[in-house]
Amino acid sequence: ETLCNQIAAGEVVERPAAVVKELVENSLDAEAGRIVISLERGGRSEVCVVDDGVGMDADDALLALERHATSKITSVSDLQAVRSLGFRGEALPSIAAVSRFDLMTRERDAVAGTRIRVEGGVIRSVEETGCPAGTSITVRDLFFNVPARRKFLRSVNTEWAHILDLVLRLALAYPDVHLQVHHQGRCTHDFPKATSLVERAGQVLGHDTARSLIPVRSEKAGVHVEGLLGPPTLQRANTKGIFLYVNRRAVKDRVLQHALLSAYDTLIPKGRYPSCILFVSVPPELVDVNVHPTKREVRFRRPSQVVETVRGSVSETLSQALQ
Ligand code: ADP
Ligand code: MG
Repeated sequence: ETLCNQIAAGEVVERPAAVVKELVENSLDAEAGRIVISLERGGRSEVCVVDDGVGMDADDALLALERHATSKITSVSDLQAVRSLGFRGEALPSIAAVSRFDLMTRERDAVAGTRIRVEGGVIRSVEETGCPAGTSITVRDLFFNVPARRKFLRSVNTEWAHILDLVLRLALAYPDVHLQVHHQGRCTHDFPKATSLVERAGQVLGHDTARSLIPVRSEKAGVHVEGLLGPPTLQRANTKGIFLYVNRRAVKDRVLQHALLSAYDTLIPKGRYPSCILFVSVPPELVDVNVHPTKREVRFRRPSQVVETVRGSVSETLSQALQ
């Protein structure tokens, strides 16, 4: 069991940012209104995620640490139309297998909470505890028991940069969730609940940038496109200003990025890139997000339809706005 989880861990957890991603996505699935992420040494020493979501009772908390225990899928047809962020039920056991793991959780109307401590996949203690409603998970000393993997962790700054990239992407996708990040005891980012994407974009990218963004929204043949487009003047030398999502999941998709860039083609010189936040939604059965648990890839059933809709709506919106 433990070995099996360690192997699975290699798939799910490659670095601290992957831990943050799995924990925060669970908090979002648990309908959290506020999520606080605290890190020590770029997450190498500690990742802690606290949410005010629905929490778990003692049985569910124990079950959550068993492989393939997901509360989110009950049938094969669910698997074909995945809507929640988690669906494999292997994140928590995988993380707990390669760290010192401490879970505290309480359901909103329960009197007492549950605390479970796991070390390298071995449950050390299960106890009743007083704690706030919601769930708090602390992951210390990632890969302490897998030296071969620990060796591959990068510098504090590199791991921190990966986490920050992830958090900004999540923040833009969930404007109505209060997100807070602490690094080495200092609050580095605070994104209070926003009522619109523009407001959240202001918090994340700066208010001047947000004010210059051009709203886009269109729908064609079941492909829905919505977001904010940077004016051509907001160009930069890298793709760091491009935030792409498919069904609200951040993706790194060449096809989609190419569609976007081709819409800016005549507006921005070669080697320069636009800024934009773009949410593409397609019916879940037309996209395969089950490609890999950590890589942000997707596979569309009908890529050309997606490309055409994205390119069409972006270039139409730009040409209207820039008239
Ligand atoms: P998955 O998200 O794929 O279902 P995970 O291993 O990430 O699998 O989580 C296992 C289960 O633990 C979830 O299905 C959920 O029921 C429960 N869980 C995990 N994190 C939280 C949380 N923050 N709040 C409430 N329940 C949670
Ligand atoms: Mg999950």
